[in-house]
This record gives sequence, structure tokens and C-alpha cells, in this order.
Amino acid sequence: MGIRIARVGLHHFEEPCISGKRGSGTVFFSGCNLKCLFCQNHVISHEGKGLEVSARELLDCMSRLEDMGAHNINLVTPSNYTNLLIPVLEQAKSRLKIPIVWNSSGYETVTNIKKLKGLVDIYLPDFKYSDDNMAFEYSCAKGYFEVAKKAIAQMRENAPDDVFDNDGMMLSGVIVRHLVLPEGVDNARGVMRAIADIDKDIYVSVMGQYFPTTAVADHQILGRRLTEDEYDAATDAFFNAGLHNGFSQELDSATEEYVPDFDLKELAEFLGKVNFVDN
Ligand code: SF4
Repeated sequence: MGIRIARVGLHHFEEPCISGKRGSGTVFFSGCNLKCLFCQNHVISHEGKGLEVSARELLDCMSRLEDMGAHNINLVTPSNYTNLLIPVLEQAKSRLKIPIVWNSSGYETVTNIKKLKGLVDIYLPDFKYSDDNMAFEYSCAKGYFEVAKKAIAQMRENAPDDVFDNDGMMLSGVIVRHLVLPEGVDNARGVMRAIADIDKDIYVSVMGQYFPTTAVADHQILGRRLTEDEYDAATDAFFNAGLHNGFSQELDSATEEYVPDFDLKELAEFLGKVNFVDN
């Protein structure tokens, strides 16, 4: 299996220290090691929409994003390709001046995260569940909690210091994301406690942007947006766990506007694949 990607471009809707003014240079990979029912990028994560690229093409994409002004190279759902990406990242490190971001589901092995040491500057993992029943029911992930806890602890070891430049852009470190789900307050509490056990100074993004996609529109629990009370309880859980560095969101930011368009023709043009026909 080669590396498949679904989108390359500047993205403005990450945390401020990642997106900055000019945008984060995102590369969306096809496929995901989770299968979340509520996934907003369903066509790439579940259906595998994308184009295969060579290591050279991927490196060229990264260089072009840097030339376009990207603050960083943001590898989105890269985990299925970890071994194939290692040699690419080794070359990228000598070619690029901007940081590399590993933007993953958090469901990864410690062995794989260790391989990324020195190749990835910023880790941006999800920590979705402390409740393994929810993890299995919503994302088909067995034992998610322990796996994610260990993976994120290793990310912290790989990048022990959170470093920012004079403009507040992150140069290295870890930001853990938690998407609060409907009826997910107890789950959020467990996640916040586990993050604090790893490091109370770690940056946490408490995300309230959940909205039901058509796939879960009729789901008994997932078929609605968060309430303000749920989001407030999740942010309280952040503080109660002793965490103090982080990001919050306005609940009205929960909109499909932020879901990227995966246009393979546009991607093919970016890659210079002139004979591409999208079926
Ligand atoms: S981890 Fe993220 S990209 Fe992967 S299936 Fe879940 S929501 Fe989608």
C-alpha cells in the first residue's frame, strides 16, 4: 500500500498557534485508524477517497506549502502510514524550515510514536475517550483509553517542552484535543484527569464544534449538537483536573463551513497530474 492523500492546502481553522495569520500547511491522508460514526471527514477516513503519491511528490507538496507561507506542515490522520512516512520526514527535516505537526487520532502504539522522535516537532493528538464502551461503540476502537494515554505520554517524552516564537506560533510541543460529545461529560472528565496525570502543563483544546453529520442525524445520542451546559461542564473538568494551558471554542463555531472540501481534481492539479479524470 502506497501513501494516499486527499487534500493539500492552507488551513485556517486550527488552534491560533498552529494556524496563525497565514494558515497551517495541511496534508490530509486517506483512511484513518479509527472509524468514528460521527466523522466529519467521512469520505476520506471511511471511504478512502484520495490519490496515491510518491515520496518525492509528498516532499514537493510540503515545499510548496512552505513557499505559500504555511506556518507549519500539518499531517492530518497520518498514522496508517507511519512507517512509509519516516523516510519522507527524514528528508523533510533537512529541506524545510517550518515545524512538522503530527495531527492524529491518538490511537497509536508507543513503538510508532518513538520512531517519530526528532522528525516531528508538534504533536496534535485527539484524546477522544476515557470510556472504552463509548470508544468501541462510536469508533470501533478496542481499549482506546490505555492506548491513547500511553501514546500521548510518549509524545510528551518526544517533545518535552512547549516552545513558541515571538508571534506566539508553536515551534514544538504537544496540544491534546478533546471533542466533547453529546452526553459526553463523564467521558470528558476522565480524559481531563488522564491528561493531567501525564502533565498538568500540557496544552489542551476543549472542542465544542461537534455537529451531527447525516450519518448520525437519527442517532439517539449523537443526533444533536452540544448544549452549553455540557460544554461548560467539560471546561470545568479541564480546570478541576488541574490543567491550566489550553484553548476553548464558541459553540456557534459548530458548522460544516469548517469541513474541508476534498476535491481530487484540485488535488491532481496541485500535484501536476495533468491526465487525471475524477470518476
Ligand atoms: S479519528 Fe477523526 S478522522 Fe478518524 S474517523 Fe475519527 S473523527 Fe474521523
